[in-house]
Amino acid sequence: MPGMRKIICLLLMMLGIAAADTGTLRIASLHPLLSEMARATGGARVEVVDLFPANGELHGFNPTGRDLAAAAGARLLLACGKGVEPYLADLRDSLPATTGVVEVGKDVPDVRVPGTYFFDPHWWNTPENMKRASRTLLAAMVQAAPQYEAEFTAGQQTYAANMDRLSRTARQRLSRIPRDARYLVTGHAAMCHFCKAYNMKPVAIQGIAKESEGDTATLAALLADLRYKNTRCIFTEVNASPRMLQVIADQLGIPTAPLVMDGIYPKAQGYESMFLHNIDTICKHLAK
Ligand SMILES: [Zn+2]
Repeated sequence: MPGMRKIICLLLMMLGIAAADTGTLRIASLHPLLSEMARATGGARVEVVDLFPANGELHGFNPTGRDLAAAAGARLLLACGKGVEPYLADLRDSLPATTGVVEVGKDVPDVRVPGTYFFDPHWWNTPENMKRASRTLLAAMVQAAPQYEAEFTAGQQTYAANMDRLSRTARQRLSRIPRDARYLVTGHAAMCHFCKAYNMKPVAIQGIAKESEGDTATLAALLADLRYKNTRCIFTEVNASPRMLQVIADQLGIPTAPLVMDGIYPKAQGYESMFLHNIDTICKHLAK
């Protein structure tokens, strides 16, 4: 019965199409740490498209038409939020109505940059915040693909447990830093969430964006202030270390050391590796 065989073939094809359609939740992401969080939450049920370029610079990134073409068919587009993506409003307008934008950091409490009216947008620098953000992401993923709620929830719980473990490690190790060494001097203001969580005081020489020259007009006053604060090290960004910071460190006779503050880790080893690198580096220079 060739007619019947044809119908069965057609039915099987339709089933195949249906499976391909609902088998995975397609997610596009504007930051590698968000991609990692989505993969950890969704496991085999998600397909994550990383839009952030391999050698990209967070504060200079602006997705191109080609990047957005790679996001075609995504049900969710993940952004850090908190002003990290100044282009987000325009981007929203150019996306199809079927793609929902999730500002994954939106529920993390704001932390002010001391002495300014600005909030530090670098919320990912504590595992506590990553855990909070993973709940926001979970809610968006479940809304987009409710059939996988149980799997997504299990993935988020494992992720959250890992963040709890990292948080305990950080508290234990950072407790060895003496009271008079608790200023964390960096280039751009990226460690205010970190400092608030771990009882340290952020000092940012350049302001929020790395390209900003900041207030270097009064170099003598800055040097005096850093001496007064018993500065032992100036922490630079691992993939961008302005010459100015080295000049200041040389003047003070102290070292510089790189942290991963923008969450862009060149070795692509993920959040745990990045966070432990920061803890190791800070303890090496500030702990007894
Ligand atoms: Zn930054």
